[in-house]
Amino acid sequence: MVRARGLSRTYGDGAQAVHALREVSFDVAPGEMVAVVGRSGSGKTTLLNLVGGLDRPDAGTVVVDGTDVSALDDDGLSRLRRESVSYVFQTFGLLPVLTAAENVGVPLRMRRTPVAEREQRVALLLDLVGLREHAGQRPGELSGGQQQRVAIARALAASPRLLLADEPTGELDADTGRAVMALLRALVESEGVTVLVATHDPVMMSLADRVLRIGDGRLQP
Ligand code: ADP
Ligand code: MG
Repeated sequence: MVRARGLSRTYGDGAQAVHALREVSFDVAPGEMVAVVGRSGSGKTTLLNLVGGLDRPDAGTVVVDGTDVSALDDDGLSRLRRESVSYVFQTFGLLPVLTAAENVGVPLRMRRTPVAEREQRVALLLDLVGLREHAGQRPGELSGGQQQRVAIARALAASPRLLLADEPTGELDADTGRAVMALLRALVESEGVTVLVATHDPVMMSLADRVLRIGDGRLQP
C-alpha cells in the first residue's frame, strides 16, 4: 500500500538547514496498522505529510496504492487526498459551524455522493464510533474524545485506502486516548483500511501490527 524509498526532506538551507528526514525507506502492506514512534522533532509529521502528499520530498519516492505521490502535480495531489488518503490530526480539525453528522459527510459531499447514500453512510459511521445520539451537535458541544471520534468517522467516510493519523490521541487524557485507539484498531479491521499512525503513546504501539522507530530523521533498525 505504501512504498517509500530514500525519502529526504530538509527545511531551510545553509547553516539553518534542518534535516527533518534522511533517506527513509519502508513498506506498509494493505490492511496493516503501522505506528511511527519517536520523540518530538524526530520527523514523524514530516514523514506522514510526504506520504499523504501534503508536502514534497527533496529526494526519494513514495508510492501509495500504486501512485507515485512524489511525481503528482497539484491536481493529482488534490485527487489523491479526495479519493485515496485521509487524515486524522491531533487537533481534530472539525468545522465548528457544522454538526457532527455534517462534518462526517464533508468528504462525501466533495465526491458528490448522492444525498440518500451519504446520509446512510454518515449514520452508519456515527453508529460505529458510538455517536448516533450526538449527530446534531456541533464540535464545541462535544468532549475531546467525542470530537476525535467524529474526526475518525469523517476520515473513513469516503472509504480511503490509507488513513494517516498524526498523534490522534495527543490531546486526549489517557483513558479517552485508549478508547479512541481501540476504536481505530477495530475500524481498521472492519473497514479494511491501511493505517500509518504517528504516536508516542505506548498503548497505541501495542495495538499496531508493527512499529517504525524514527530518531533525528532516520529510521532505526
Ligand atoms: P515530529 O512530528 O516528530 O515532532 P516534525 O516532522 O514535525 O517532527 O519535525 C522534524 C524536524 O523538522 C524538527 O526539527 C522540526 O523543527 C523541523 N521542521 C518541521 N517543520 C518545519 C518547517 N515547516 N520549517 C522548518 N523546520 C521544520
Ligand atoms: Mg509531529
